[in-house]
Amino acid sequence: MAVRRALLAIAVAAAGSLSAAAADQFAAQRQRMVDEIRAISREAGFETGRHRLEPRVLEAMERVPRHRFVRPGEVDDAYANRPLPIGHGQTISQPFIVALMTDLAKPDPEDKVLEIGTGSGYQAAVLAELVKQVYTIEIVDPLGVAARERLPSLGYSNVEVRIGDGYHGWEEHAPFDAIVVTAAASHIPPPLVKQLKPGGRMVIPVGPAFLTQHLMLVEKRADGSVISRQLLPVRFVPLTGGH
Ligand code: SAH
Repeated sequence: MAVRRALLAIAVAAAGSLSAAAADQFAAQRQRMVDEIRAISREAGFETGRHRLEPRVLEAMERVPRHRFVRPGEVDDAYANRPLPIGHGQTISQPFIVALMTDLAKPDPEDKVLEIGTGSGYQAAVLAELVKQVYTIEIVDPLGVAARERLPSLGYSNVEVRIGDGYHGWEEHAPFDAIVVTAAASHIPPPLVKQLKPGGRMVIPVGPAFLTQHLMLVEKRADGSVISRQLLPVRFVPLTGGH
């Protein structure tokens, strides 16, 4: 009996060290990904105005297990700085762009944030690390359903996923401190501007579908007036829907 118990203990220890080793491998990859994001931020700082991203944002990027948001066949590339396919013709955005958009949204621990284009749920998870509550809308039913299961299974209990057309926002939970749109719109959706709090910020790619768009930062000032700035060229999948 004692021998069996000892053997069991060894087996458990071996399994434990295996998963620890696997976790370490991804931790090291995440660290390298964040180093790369830092380097690109310095280079792109002239366009983005953000030479150094907030340490809180980079720390969140270092924590979120991106390999759990990609398809099994893409796990080896999960931490490469590029977009990856997630099925249904959609993609999970490039890590640098996720970090930049998160940084531009100026996430505060007390914030309520709306994301349009849940996709895999990765951007929502990064935001969930940094704010109080994330509301996210996905138009492709199976993607929304998968993200709705994935996020709580990874411990994200402060994200609510809705399936529908995000162009119209989420009136019931408005106004939002920040809105992050991760699909390219031909114009800034007026309902989203309306659902932004005074002092709030929206980050959104705007431009023609399937061509280069511009990442825009839209700020609503305390008096309700809106200013928008064009930051850098990007490529996103289009915002679809019947609006
Ligand atoms: N943020 C995602 C990547 C988004 S790709 C991630 O981290 O993985 C853009 C997503 O926007 C796609 O999943 C697409 O289906 C979705 N989308 C496109 N048009 C939409 C709309 N009108 N409302 C909500 N989601 C939309």
